[in-house]
Amino acid sequence: MKNEFSLDKLLRDNIRNLKPYSSARDEFSGEAAVFLDANENPFNEPFNRYPDPQQKKLKAKIAALKNVGTEAIFLGNGSDEAIDLVFRAFCNPGIDNIVSIVPTYGMYNVAANINDVQVSEVELNEDFTLSAQRVLEASDEYTKLIFLCSPNNPTGNALDAEEIKKILNETKALVILDEAYIDFCPEKSMLAELTAFPNLIVLQTFSKAWGMAGIRLGMAFASAEIITILNHIKYPYNINILTQLKAIELLKLEEEQADWVKLLIDERKKLATKLANLPFVEKVYPSDSNFLLIKTHDAAGIYNYLVDEKIIIRDRSKVILCAGCLRISIGSPLENQQLMETLQALL
Ligand SMILES: *Cc1c(COP(=O)(O)O)cnc(C)c1O
Repeated sequence: MKNEFSLDKLLRDNIRNLKPYSSARDEFSGEAAVFLDANENPFNEPFNRYPDPQQKKLKAKIAALKNVGTEAIFLGNGSDEAIDLVFRAFCNPGIDNIVSIVPTYGMYNVAANINDVQVSEVELNEDFTLSAQRVLEASDEYTKLIFLCSPNNPTGNALDAEEIKKILNETKALVILDEAYIDFCPEKSMLAELTAFPNLIVLQTFSKAWGMAGIRLGMAFASAEIITILNHIKYPYNINILTQLKAIELLKLEEEQADWVKLLIDERKKLATKLANLPFVEKVYPSDSNFLLIKTHDAAGIYNYLVDEKIIIRDRSKVILCAGCLRISIGSPLENQQLMETLQALL
């Protein structure tokens, strides 16, 4: 079945008719000797100046890194900004709906609730695999967005590419594929499929593999048409100067980043084996990410014990399909060793 995708039909009327704010830096962005156009203070360089609203230098670096055109990149104050913006661009409050999987990252539901948009939740299979058929069946004529997360949080596994493509092929909605953890399994990214699927938005972030959670920088990749819409509705100066400068500086550490990722994957494998040997650990789920989900006999007990020992992990035992489950981020070798020694002391 062909999807007859139409971006224009998905767009809210008010956004289609929007005349976006035009800043001083939008109207003149070239080189000049004297800038007297934005009521800035002439002192305290470089922080006295408004940041580049289009983040051109940073986007050029990201374009080279990700092998996409700059017109296919949106940068946000964390991935959370892009998540909120797609609701504001496409979902009429109280009328439209989205489809998302369960369990998954909590922000999609929060953003839906804030924007007064109904969520149709589709459970993953017992083994956390995705059923494209059930996602498609949960959609109706008011479904504007379908949220998928691969590798998925908190389950850790990457979703099957064929199932994702089936959804992309058969839905008229936009598919937001959150690849926050993709640097830990780059071969599973769908970024190269952007040109094949006009209804695909891929989210990535600097918060995980790049070690930049504190500077708040998220990326959305999509068609130039979709990126233009997001740029029209974002705050004009959404990425501040400190973040833009720091990201450009840190992007030079490509080799270090690759070393971190390799080490974390190696640590994840070691930790998975050790955790599986603990008698109170029933199962260590396979992971394509920088964390492990484990099923235990007493999630709350283990969680509270670790808190008392000043080690904080995430209790996910109340989440659907995750009874007894704890989520553990992979730390430094020393931190992982401390975790294991503390857990072994429970025996
Ligand atoms: C951590 C995480 C993010 C990152 O969000 P930022 O706002 O970019 O820090 C996005 N999606 C998922 C699924 C995550 O787990």
